[in-house]
Amino acid sequence: MTHPELRPRPPSPLTEAADERFAARGVRLLLKRDDLVHPELPGNKWRKLAPNLRAALEKGHERLVTFGGAYSNHLRATAAAGRLLGLETVGVVRGDELAGRPLNDSLARCAADGMRLHFVTRAEYRCKAEPEVRARLLDAAGAADAYVIPEGGSNALALTGCAELGRELRDVCDVAAVACGTGGTLAGLAAGLGPGRRALGVPVLAGGFLEAEIRSLQAAAFGGPAGSWSLAEGFDHGGYARVPAALDAFAADFGARHGLPVERIYVAKLLWALTALTEAGAFPPGTTLAAVVTGRP
Ligand SMILES: *Cc1c(COP(=O)(O)O)cnc(C)c1O
Repeated sequence: MTHPELRPRPPSPLTEAADERFAARGVRLLLKRDDLVHPELPGNKWRKLAPNLRAALEKGHERLVTFGGAYSNHLRATAAAGRLLGLETVGVVRGDELAGRPLNDSLARCAADGMRLHFVTRAEYRCKAEPEVRARLLDAAGAADAYVIPEGGSNALALTGCAELGRELRDVCDVAAVACGTGGTLAGLAAGLGPGRRALGVPVLAGGFLEAEIRSLQAAAFGGPAGSWSLAEGFDHGGYARVPAALDAFAADFGARHGLPVERIYVAKLLWALTALTEAGAFPPGTTLAAVVTGRP
């Protein structure tokens, strides 16, 4: 029996943004409001979690464990999902210096949703994928029998949830664009888009490791490359969670023009990149762009 929370949800809303910076280049801009896909769990976090929650329930797990930093949206989403589904949640948090100190807002919300927080050293956290370290870590966290969701929530099942997002967009746009952290959302989105469509990812952190990561996620989920995708580098604005004044002003202006609360860490960088690329003539006239609004402030 499917938990009511896990029944298929209607497609998230799609709205047109009338914006002269795009119109001047003959480009249509659509906003895919995935921030509205679930009342409590925004956007891509819900798309990635839902198939994992289904699997956890089917396998009879009563507890979820996952990993994240002190400001992780994924930790927060997992905690909320656990509350909604009646599953216990354990969050392994990077940074043992945080233990015993007052929780920041993000971790306080995790705790309020019932998540048990287990703080580990940065060194341990870095090695959490090594089987021995992981076993020791989960044991210490009291989560040895828990269903394990990786950092950022991106695994093969998560990609199948994000492919659904691609299917919702396949008949309405030429290019579907999304901000990338782990790249899991882009990897799934690309697979769900139809032939002749492409996905464009905007990394919010510098690095260059993302292409390989996306290829390996797609191999795990779909057995090999799926769909057409590329990355637009150079729009990280100095790194993860960096919001220079110019980006902040751009986001405030975009929000005022289009009545959209613009989340700063991911969505603002995506919208900036699409505006800059359009103004530079990167999209031929007649292109319909869909910007995936993956979250809310
Ligand atoms: C987590 C997150 C992303 C990044 O998703 P990935 O699948 O890790 O690339 C994008 N936007 C928002 C709002 C997020 O919270």
